[in-house]
Amino acid sequence: MDKQTILIIGAGPAGLTAGHLLSEKGFQVYIYEAHPELVGGLSKTVNHNGFSFDLGGHRFYTKAPEVADYWHRVLGDKFMKRGRLSRIYYNQKFFQYPLKLADVLQKLSWWTGLNFLLSYLKVKIFPLKNIVSFEDWVTANFGKGLYLAFFKSYTEKVWGRPCHEISKDWAAQRINNLNITKIITQFLKTLFGIKDKEVVKSLIDTFDYPEKGPGMLWQRVREQIEENGGKVYLGKEVSGIHLNKDKYKDENKEEWHLTFADGSEGIKGNHVISTCPLKHLLETLTPKIPSTLIGELPQISYRDFLTVVLMFKKKESFPDNWIYIHDNRVKVARIQNYKNWSPHMVPSDEYTSYGLEFFCQKNDELWSMSDNELRELAIKEVRLIGLPFSEEELDSKVIRIPFAYPVYDHDHQTRSLKIREALKSYPNLHLIGRNGMHRYNNQDHSIKTAMLVVENICLGHQRFDPWKVNQDAIYLEEVIEEKSSVK
Ligand SMILES: Cc1cc2nc3c(=O)[nH]c(=O)nc-3n(C[C@H](O)[C@H](O)[C@H](O)COP(=O)(O)OP(=O)(O)OC[C@H]3O[C@@H](n4cnc5c(N)ncnc54)[C@H](O)[C@@H]3O)c2cc1C
Repeated sequence: MDKQTILIIGAGPAGLTAGHLLSEKGFQVYIYEAHPELVGGLSKTVNHNGFSFDLGGHRFYTKAPEVADYWHRVLGDKFMKRGRLSRIYYNQKFFQYPLKLADVLQKLSWWTGLNFLLSYLKVKIFPLKNIVSFEDWVTANFGKGLYLAFFKSYTEKVWGRPCHEISKDWAAQRINNLNITKIITQFLKTLFGIKDKEVVKSLIDTFDYPEKGPGMLWQRVREQIEENGGKVYLGKEVSGIHLNKDKYKDENKEEWHLTFADGSEGIKGNHVISTCPLKHLLETLTPKIPSTLIGELPQISYRDFLTVVLMFKKKESFPDNWIYIHDNRVKVARIQNYKNWSPHMVPSDEYTSYGLEFFCQKNDELWSMSDNELRELAIKEVRLIGLPFSEEELDSKVIRIPFAYPVYDHDHQTRSLKIREALKSYPNLHLIGRNGMHRYNNQDHSIKTAMLVVENICLGHQRFDPWKVNQDAIYLEEVIEEKSSVK
C-alpha cells in the first residue's frame, strides 16, 4: 500500500489518537493544532509555577475495554486509582451526590422530603405525556420538588438558558445513573422506621487519573507520533479546508489541502480528519456546503467556559475532588480541588489550588472581565461559600475556553442527519470527537470514534460508522455497509 498522507485538524484526544494509530501503521500524519503551546484540547493540563491543573478535572473512566487498553498502553504505571467524592452545595450545606434521602432529610426538613416524595408520586401516577425538554425529562423521572432543588439552577448556569429550552437528550445522557427508586425506598423505610439492612453503597467511586493530569497522556501520545515520523504543528489554526474535486476525479491521490489563519498553506493529503467545531468546518469547506445547510449554521451553538485557578499556601482544603455549587448568591458553578485529583498537582502538601468554573458565552459580561476582576470574584465567592482558603503566597490564573460544550437544542438530531447526508459528497472527510461531531462526550467517545476512522482508512472502505458510537463509547453496530468506499 502507498504511504497515504492524512491531514488532521486538532491535537485533542480524538486527533492525537487517530494520528498515533495511523502513524503506527505507516501513514504519513500531519496534525495541525490552533493552540500555540499545548496539546490535549479540552483534556490538556496547564502547568503554572509548580502547580498543574486541568480545564475541569478529567476522570478516566470507560466501559470500552479497547479504550482503557489504549491509554494504559501509552502511560503504563503512570496512572493512579483515585477515590471520588463530589458533593452538591445547596442551601448553604453540602449534600452527598448521588443523592441520599436520609442525607437530604437530615439537612433540609421532613416536610421538604415529603414534598419531594409527593411530587415524585404525582408524576408516576399522572405521567407527563410530551417529554421534549430537560425540564420535562427530570420532572417526569424525579418529580418537580427534586427538579427545583437539585437540577434547575445548576443546569441553567451551565447552559445559560431556561431548562425548557434544553433538549431532553442532555438529561438522558448525564443523569441516567441516578436511581430514584432506591432513593424513595430508602425514604419510605426511614419514614416507617424500618432499618435499612442494605450496606450503604459508598459514594467514593474510583477512577483512573494520570499522575500529572490528562495532559501527561496526550503529551506522551504526541511524542510517540513524532517518534513514528508524524508531524504535530502547534499555533496552526485551520481556516480553510479544500477538496480539489477535479484532481479527485482523475484519481490523483492528493486531493485535500488546508489553509491557515496565518496565511500559509499546508501539504496536500488523501484524507482529512476533523476535530474542529462542526460549525467552523461547515463554514470553511470548499466546495461550499449546499445552500440548504447554510441556513442551519446559526443554530449550531456552543457554551463557553472559564476557570479561575486560585493557588495558595494552606494545607487544609475540602475533601472532595470537586463540588457542584447550587447557590444563586454566587456565579461559580463548580469548584475543583486539584490536589485531591493527584498530589502531584501542587508543589507540596502545604499548598492547595482551587479551580472555580464559570459557564459563560464568549464576549459576555463574565468572559470580558479582566483577569484581575475574575480573581477578585473567585476570592469573594470562595469566602462566601466558606471553603478553607488563605491569601498567603496567593497566585492565580484565568483560562478562557471557547467551544467547551456543544449545545443540544430540540432540533440537533435532525440537523445532524442533514449535515451527515450533505457531507457524503466530500470523499475521505472524516468527522470525529466532541466538537467534530457536535457530541457532548467524554474522552473515551473521542478515542473510540478515532479508532473506527483509523480502521476505515486502513481497510480502504467505510466499514464502521463513528456516529454509531454512543456516549459510553460503545459501538452499537457490528458492521455497517461495505458499499461506500474510502479511497
Ligand atoms: C469542564 C470539562 C470537564 C470534562 N471532564 C471530563 C472527564 O472527567 N472525563 C472525560 O473523559 N472527559 C471530560 N471532558 C470531556 C473531554 O474534555 C472531551 O471529551 C475531549 O477533550 C474531547 O476530545 P476531542 O479531541 O474530541 O476535542 P477537543 O478536546 O476539543 O480537541 C480539539 C482540538 O482541536 C483544536 N482546534 C479547534 N479548531 C481548530 C482549528 N480551526 N484549527 C486547528 N485546531 C483546532 C482545539 O484547539 C483542540 O485542541 C470534560 C470537558 C470539559 C469541558
